[in-house]
Amino acid sequence: METQVAVQWLLAFDKKIQENKTYLTDLDTPIGDGDHGANMARGMEFVRKALEEKPPKTAADALKLCAMQLLSHVGGASGPLYGSAFLGMSMHANDSLPDMLHCGLEQIQKRGHAELGEKTMVDFWGPAIEQLRNGELTCDSIKALVDATAPMRATKGRASYTGERSCGHIDPGAASSGMLFCALLEQGV
Ligand code: ADP
Ligand code: MG
Ligand code: MG
Repeated sequence: METQVAVQWLLAFDKKIQENKTYLTDLDTPIGDGDHGANMARGMEFVRKALEEKPPKTAADALKLCAMQLLSHVGGASGPLYGSAFLGMSMHANDSLPDMLHCGLEQIQKRGHAELGEKTMVDFWGPAIEQLRNGELTCDSIKALVDATAPMRATKGRASYTGERSCGHIDPGAASSGMLFCALLEQGV
């Protein structure tokens, strides 16, 4: 990945997160503790500032910077999970995009131990990477994948405490992940 593409991707993700902070928090309210928007907005603001203060020289550096900021400034599940994902991707920044993203997913699963069907961000990343590999990923297909988490019953993370009541609500982490992938597509990759 080109350095500038990585930087612009992270800045575009930050913009979407800040614009959708309330939406993400609203998604996290019925099935969580209502902080996903605040968590991500806080983390990505640190990322934006760090990118401005010390412009990275490679895509790997940009992704690693993002990982470090999220790991050190975001509490809750999403900080360590996104942090691990970006760290994994930073180590494979020169692979093909699907391969790079797959390494991110592997780290999310290594950290969180979630499998497909447990209503987490994994349910977005898995099929989204497959669609990207097949040249089928679009912002519309991303929306459909995010929406597809709604009927699932949560068995990992905080949402699992709500059991059956988690059904019918979109997973907040899948929604923010959708923004990450949409921001990537916007870079014309
Ligand atoms: P917290 O649940 O600690 O308040 P956030 O609200 O910021 O953290 O993030 C919640 C999101 O994290 C969920 O919507 C889900 O996508 C994701 N998540 C939680 N636990 C896991 C896990 N074990 N594996 C993958 N993703 C998870
Ligand atoms: Mg939460
Ligand atoms: Mg929380």
